[in-house]
Amino acid sequence: MICLKDIVKTYNKGKSNAYEALHGISMEIGDGEMAAVIGTSGAGKSTLLHILACIDGYDSGEYTIDGEEVGKISERQMAQERNEKIGMVMQDFALVEGFTALDNVMIPLDFADRKRHRKRKERRERALEMLELVGMAEFAEKQTNNLSGGQKQRVAIAWAIVNDPSIILADEPTGALDSATTREIMKVFRDLNEQGRTIIIVTHDPEVAEECSRVIRIEDGRIVNEDFDNVD
Ligand code: ADP
Repeated sequence: MICLKDIVKTYNKGKSNAYEALHGISMEIGDGEMAAVIGTSGAGKSTLLHILACIDGYDSGEYTIDGEEVGKISERQMAQERNEKIGMVMQDFALVEGFTALDNVMIPLDFADRKRHRKRKERRERALEMLELVGMAEFAEKQTNNLSGGQKQRVAIAWAIVNDPSIILADEPTGALDSATTREIMKVFRDLNEQGRTIIIVTHDPEVAEECSRVIRIEDGRIVNEDFDNVD
């Protein structure tokens, strides 16, 4: 369970150009929910997502994952938390060009498994399993720069889930895709959600928001309304 209480975030704190981007955000997202965060450009969506992803800190308030307060742990623990509990999907896919799809998906495993000493063959099998899950097994040996946008995003989703995170955070994951491909990618997210993962998607695409069971709207650094049970 993700719980935010009165989170305030100021950029350039203490300087003349200080800017309070989040004015006190409170929300709870239960295990297994699929939520969209929507709002106009500049509303604070990415700021919120970066805090949720443990990429960025905050000035005041409380952020807990499964009862553990994120603000109180060290940078190293934060990185570990991110690695174990959170999978991140970005708009621009963030894949290593020149690497195959399989090699890309193995990167987070190599990083996480150093301590666990899982054999390369096992890591490879795990990465292949993930590619299969997102419908990309037949492209495993293809370099990612030769893939379409939708295919790249599938690989990026496999990359995000390879360490089996319980939470998937996505920042405009369909922003660079046409509407048919957007629907395909949303099906992948829905399937992952049905398998029990919590999913939070920042989007300005109403079609994407419609696919989520809950919509959280942010305006000017505040939650302005929440629409539960968005989908019948
Ligand atoms: P959104 O994702 O909804 O478009 P952001 O979270 O990116 O909005 O930005 C919220 C506000 O914070 C905007 O006014 C933006 O200009 C400001 N902002 C974002 N990042 C920074 C930064 N690194 N330094 C200063 N201001 C920032």
